[in-house]
Amino acid sequence: MTPNHSKDLDRRVRLAAFQWLTEQVSIYGDVLPRTILSKGFIFQDQRVPLVAPLGIFKPRILPEYPLSITTTTSGPYDDSFERGDLLLYRYRGTDPYHRDNVALRNAMLHKIPLIYLHGVIPGKYLVEWPVFVIGDDPENLTFTVAVDEHKTIDSYIEPKDVMQDDSDSISDIRRMYITSSVKQRLHQRGFRERVLRAYREQCSFCRLKHLELLDAAHIIPDGGKDGDPVVTNGVALCKLHHAAFDKFMIGIRPDYVIEVRRDILKEKDGPMLVHGLQNMHSHRMILPKNKRAWPDPALLERRYARFRNAGIDSNFSHSFSAQS
Ligand SMILES: [Zn+2]
Repeated sequence: MTPNHSKDLDRRVRLAAFQWLTEQVSIYGDVLPRTILSKGFIFQDQRVPLVAPLGIFKPRILPEYPLSITTTTSGPYDDSFERGDLLLYRYRGTDPYHRDNVALRNAMLHKIPLIYLHGVIPGKYLVEWPVFVIGDDPENLTFTVAVDEHKTIDSYIEPKDVMQDDSDSISDIRRMYITSSVKQRLHQRGFRERVLRAYREQCSFCRLKHLELLDAAHIIPDGGKDGDPVVTNGVALCKLHHAAFDKFMIGIRPDYVIEVRRDILKEKDGPMLVHGLQNMHSHRMILPKNKRAWPDPALLERRYARFRNAGIDSNFSHSFSAQS
């Protein structure tokens, strides 16, 4: 294979992979199951998987550069993977000259766009592309990775345009900005997936099991003190109960019993009010099987205190609008 031919093949496979991912994300959303990614797509009668058991992955069809890098997280914030507004990616092993590390370094030198797969829960990955390796730190055995806008892919079709791109410093700032918003999304999506899985994908008030109608609600709002995206600060709720919980129409006592606000209990209206809200009163919420995933009673206590105040405050209804 001549160098030009192999460059061209690399480019076409990569663009086909991006195109295929665009389609998958439009069908399944931005968190894709591993089964789909490891099956991949067909390029000129060859199957091209996008993920393999190890982190730096080059499918057989590609001559030189890796196609994807994968990370799995154990906790809500995997600090080893982040610094500032960029992502850190650990070397394979401790040898900077391991062939996987060398291949990724070459991808950096030639500004090759890659796919980044971030495991949010076992078997499910948030997918980002194009990402670029923009730094290499052999002392700490890490690469620095930045996410870029999809429009970079268009210029990648004509590689000479990539060279004419903005000056390096402007594109670095832009990438840092995009990477930090991606990181935020990583945390949010990870939270949703972990909470819904813990509650066996049902509303913990009414058992509704349609994923399209389920949310992961924060007990202490996101961004506030203790508003961490951890399962013990979350509850799986359907859209109705999430909104009712956020507006303090329904509360959860620290002993996991559901309370409906007094004025709503007294209200007279049709079946939606009766079944959807009033009948929840005094029932115990559905809890995760694993006790360690149960809501933290201390957080529930704080939230419940606000709920009690909401019931007392007659001017309440428009004074709160808790985010979650
Ligand atoms: Zn519900």
